[in-house]
Amino acid sequence: MSAGALDRQWRERADAVIPGGMYGHQSTRLLPDSYPQFFSRAKGARLWDADGRPLLDFMCAYGPNLMGYGDEEIDSAFVDQLRRGDTLTGPTPLMVELAERFVRLVGHADWAMFCKNGGDATQMALMVARAHTRRKTIIIARGAYHGANPWCQTRTAGVTPGDKAYQILCDYNDVSSLEAAAEQAGDDLAAIFAAPLKHDAFVDQALPDPAYAQKARDICDRTGALLVVDDVRAGLRVARDCSWATVGVSPDLSSWGKCFANGHPISALLGSDKARKAASAIYATGSFWFQAAPMAAALATLNRVETSTYLEDMMSLGEHLRSGLAERAEAHGLGIRQSGPVTMPLVLFEDDPDLRLGFAWCSQMLSRGIYLHPWHNMFLCAAMTETDISSALDAADQSFRAVKQDPRSTEVNSKLSFLLA
Ligand SMILES: *Cc1c(COP(=O)(O)O)cnc(C)c1O
Repeated sequence: MSAGALDRQWRERADAVIPGGMYGHQSTRLLPDSYPQFFSRAKGARLWDADGRPLLDFMCAYGPNLMGYGDEEIDSAFVDQLRRGDTLTGPTPLMVELAERFVRLVGHADWAMFCKNGGDATQMALMVARAHTRRKTIIIARGAYHGANPWCQTRTAGVTPGDKAYQILCDYNDVSSLEAAAEQAGDDLAAIFAAPLKHDAFVDQALPDPAYAQKARDICDRTGALLVVDDVRAGLRVARDCSWATVGVSPDLSSWGKCFANGHPISALLGSDKARKAASAIYATGSFWFQAAPMAAALATLNRVETSTYLEDMMSLGEHLRSGLAERAEAHGLGIRQSGPVTMPLVLFEDDPDLRLGFAWCSQMLSRGIYLHPWHNMFLCAAMTETDISSALDAADQSFRAVKQDPRSTEVNSKLSFLLA
């Protein structure tokens, strides 16, 4: 099965005018050939590809879709504010209300700054930490994603060693490697950047070990460095607070983005009083950072976060999905590993180093109208229903069976054979 005829035509046109045909995390270059590159619309838990085929979407725009695509209440708040005024000569009072709302919601936060992408927020966190400590070195976990800015991206094209200077890598959840990194930083440690959980691509996810989180806090307290939790991806899918509230550790800074305006463009850096002075000293801005309409959408989304059972609902859907997949895979004699929070599932097959089984299964699921990802964590949204999960499980049952007959499940996966190297 391949992507639809219209999708193929759009790809050909894209190849002529968009470098590489597509770029960044939404390029389907490394996904199975049947994956569509282009989509035409979305509603609730579903999106339609450019050929008009409906798909139950377990990627949720790679995170931003939290309450469902096209949520009436949130989008009305956005559109109403858009009509009143959006990008203006100065901010609207919505900015103050949104900062107040975040300070109320997130335990460690005493202030908020708003920007557009998650990468803006992690970059600001870096600057605030260096301004606060007047030091340079940061500790990051190997393989963790903090955005596409040169200092934190993992590709090398267009990136200089200087962009990545003053960084020490440790291993996530490995207390002794964290201690060794802090030792190496000596008296120059500005910040420890922490993913709220290990959600790196291609490998099993891992929830934070409380001892690791506490060690990061202790090192920062001892050295005066700032602890940063990058909640851009996991925020609001794990807790109605910073995700490390689940392990009882408060950071000094946390970065937020993706889902808190349910797909409308806004991100945030939250901080404690300790970092307030440094946050007011850095120069950080952007033409669109003060847009009022996304702030109205964010207030509507956070309202839902505070007043609904969206999180418990997503968790129970996620449990149903996880246990249902485990049962069905086992019934077909296939070994799968499911990791991470149930609201951010990742499914990898045992003995599948080049993901040939994952590709075959995801392709089978796609042909049954279920959009999964073979190596990136997926996302649930609050618009999903028990009926959606049941239909995904029915499709999974048929797809596990089909994997056993699918020639792709025994062929080298040429797209990901580099993983074997
Ligand atoms: C997506 C992501 C970012 C970057 O956010 P953008 O909006 O893509 O700039 C940073 N950190 C984490 C953990 C992310 O998942």
